[in-house]
Amino acid sequence: MFKKILIANRGEIALRVIRACKEMGIQSVAVHSTADADAMHVRMADESVCIGPNPSSQSYLSVPAIVSACEITGAEAIHPGYGFLSENAAFVQVLEDHNITFIGPTAEHIRIMGDKITAKDTMKRLGVPCVPGSDGGVPDMATARSVAAAIGYPVIIKATAGGGGRGMKVARDESELEIAFRTARSEAKAAFGNDEVYIEKYLQRPRHVEIQVFGDGKGRAVHLGERDCSLQRRHQKVFEEAPGPVISPETRARIGKTCAEAVAAINYIGAGTIEFLFEDGEFYFIEMNTRLQVEHPVTEAIFDVDLVREQIRVAAGLPMEFRQEALSIRGHAIEVRINAEKLPDFAPRPGKVTQFHAPGGLGVRMDSALYDGYVIPPYYDSLIGKLIVHGRDRTEALARLKRSLSELIVDGQGVETTVPLFHALLEEPDIRSGDYSIHWLEKWLARTYG
Ligand code: ADP
Repeated sequence: MFKKILIANRGEIALRVIRACKEMGIQSVAVHSTADADAMHVRMADESVCIGPNPSSQSYLSVPAIVSACEITGAEAIHPGYGFLSENAAFVQVLEDHNITFIGPTAEHIRIMGDKITAKDTMKRLGVPCVPGSDGGVPDMATARSVAAAIGYPVIIKATAGGGGRGMKVARDESELEIAFRTARSEAKAAFGNDEVYIEKYLQRPRHVEIQVFGDGKGRAVHLGERDCSLQRRHQKVFEEAPGPVISPETRARIGKTCAEAVAAINYIGAGTIEFLFEDGEFYFIEMNTRLQVEHPVTEAIFDVDLVREQIRVAAGLPMEFRQEALSIRGHAIEVRINAEKLPDFAPRPGKVTQFHAPGGLGVRMDSALYDGYVIPPYYDSLIGKLIVHGRDRTEALARLKRSLSELIVDGQGVETTVPLFHALLEEPDIRSGDYSIHWLEKWLARTYG
C-alpha cells in the first residue's frame, strides 16, 4: 500500500480523498494555489505545497508544478478528484514516465473515452446501446443535412471533445441546422481547441441515468447500480438520486451487466461512470466519465461502500474487494449540489463566510470545505458543498432532505447559495413523485422566475 498520496484538487473533493487516506493510514499531501493558502484541504492534509498563483491554469492544471510537488514530498501516487486533471491523458502519461501512480484508469482508456466519437464507437462495439446519430464526425453542412434528415429532427450537435455541458446545440428543424452547426463548432473550438462535432437524435423527454462501474484492470468488473441525474440546468446536474425512481431491479440487472461486461472486456481499472439517456424503457449511451463523479456519495450510501478507498486499493495493486453478488441496495439516497450562486440567474456570489453550520443526524452527510471565516475565492467552480441524505425509502429520504436543509446555515458577506432552490423544489408534486425528465428543471425555472 502507498505510504503517501498527493491530492491534485481542492475543495470538498480534496477533503473526501484526504478522509479516505486518513482512515487507511496513508499520509496525504495537499496542493494549493495562493488563493487557497487557508483552505480546509490544506489544513486537513498532513503536508501541503503551494503550486502557483490563483488561476487554475497556473496551479491546479500545472502538470510540472504537481509533479514537482510529488517529488519534493515523496508522494508515490496522485488522486485527481474530479475536474482539473482527472481526465487528462497527457498528465497520466507524464506520471507514468516519473514512476508516480495515477489513481484512476490508464492514459489509453482516458483518451478513448475523452473523445466522444471514439467512446461511442467503442461502446457500440462492446454491445452498449447508443443514441442514433452520425457515424463519427460531421465535417461539413452537406453531411450535417443528410445525417439529420436520415435520423429525423430534432437533432443535437455535440463537440467530440465536449464536457461540462458546453459545445452542444439543438436544431428543431432544417432551418435551424446551419446556425446550430456553426455555433457548436465555434464553441467547441473556443472551449476545447477542437472543432470536431457529431450529430445525435435529440431525445425529447429522457431521463439521465448513469451506471457506476468499477474494474480491477485484469478483466473483472462490477456495477453499482444507477444514479438518476435528470434534474439539470444548462446540462449541469443539480440534484441526484439512487436508485433511479423509474428503474426496476430487472432493468438495473440487465443494463448493469452490459456495462460491467463492457469495461471488463477492455480491462478497465478503477471507478467509471457510463452515462445514458433513458426514454421509453430504452437506454442510449452518451458518454463515459473515467473518474470519480461529484454525485458518487449517493451510490456509497445505498451500497454501503467507500469508492475512494477501493480506487486507492486497486491502484496499489491489491485485488478488488467488490463482488457483484455481495453488492446489494439498501434504501434511497439523494444529493443536492450547493453552489455559491444567487437565484434566479445563478450568478456567482463568492465572499467571506461568517457562519457555517452543517446539518447532522441520522442518514445525513455533508461534504463541504467551508468553515466560519473562510473566504470563498472567485476563481474556481461555485460548488461549496454537497448535502447527501439516506433513508429507508425515497419518501424518507425526501423528508430527511427537507429537515437537513432547514438546519444548514451559510451566512456571509455577499455570499448567496442555491439552498432556496431545493426548498422550493421539495414542494413540487413532480419532484415528490419522481416524475421529471432532463428538461423539467429548465421549464420550471422559466415558469417560476420568468
Ligand atoms: P457533457 O460531457 O458536456 O456533460 P453529455 O454528452 O454528457 O455532455 O450530455 C450532457 C447532457 O446534455 C445530458 O445529460 C442531457 O441532458 C443533454 N443531452 C446530451 N445528448 C442529448 C441527446 N441526444 N438528446 C437530448 N439531450 C441530450
